[in-house]
Amino acid sequence: MDFALRCDCGTVRGSAQDVSPGLTNRVICYCSTCQAFAHYLGRGADILDANGGSGIVQFSQGRLRLDQGAQRLACVRLTENGPLRWYADCCKSPIGNTPSNRKLPSIGLSTNWIDVEVSGCTLDALLGPVRHVGYPDHAVGDTSDLPVGTHSLRATIRRFYKIVLSARLHGDRKRSPFFDAATGKPMADPREDERADD
Ligand SMILES: [Zn+2]
Ligand SMILES: [Zn+2]
Repeated sequence: MDFALRCDCGTVRGSAQDVSPGLTNRVICYCSTCQAFAHYLGRGADILDANGGSGIVQFSQGRLRLDQGAQRLACVRLTENGPLRWYADCCKSPIGNTPSNRKLPSIGLSTNWIDVEVSGCTLDALLGPVRHVGYPDHAVGDTSDLPVGTHSLRATIRRFYKIVLSARLHGDRKRSPFFDAATGKPMADPREDERADD
């Protein structure tokens, strides 16, 4: 499957191509760091669900192409050994999180970045049901109606490693829009969360 990607203002655009539905994991993550990322962008109110959840789909970075706006890519690291959290600096749209080096060439793509209109169908039709709900104990508000994933944590982790293995076998780490193909360095210098010093 293919789908179009577009930040809210339309500056950073790209696509995901030939993404095998068997090599994706759709999750909703309620962890406090995903929530902190939305607040870091000043977007807590409009990109998190009512319980603080972020929509994410995991697949290989090598399936992504950036067609426009690469110079507006930015990333922040919110915890010491945590992932790089990528976003479009122009309008503070979340893009996704990657490991901090390209050894594991996977991305947890923010479903906010998916251009549902151009892709021509709903997220459910595009990505299938939510497989896993991460960190439900970090959810906020009335949690009696939290979504439930279709797969166990174990099945989800197994699928994640299948994604990483397939990405490595296909040499996808050299085709990531987030890391320089020659040096392996991130395409933007990771920022630190200035608010942490408050
Ligand atoms: Zn999370
Ligand atoms: Zn933008």
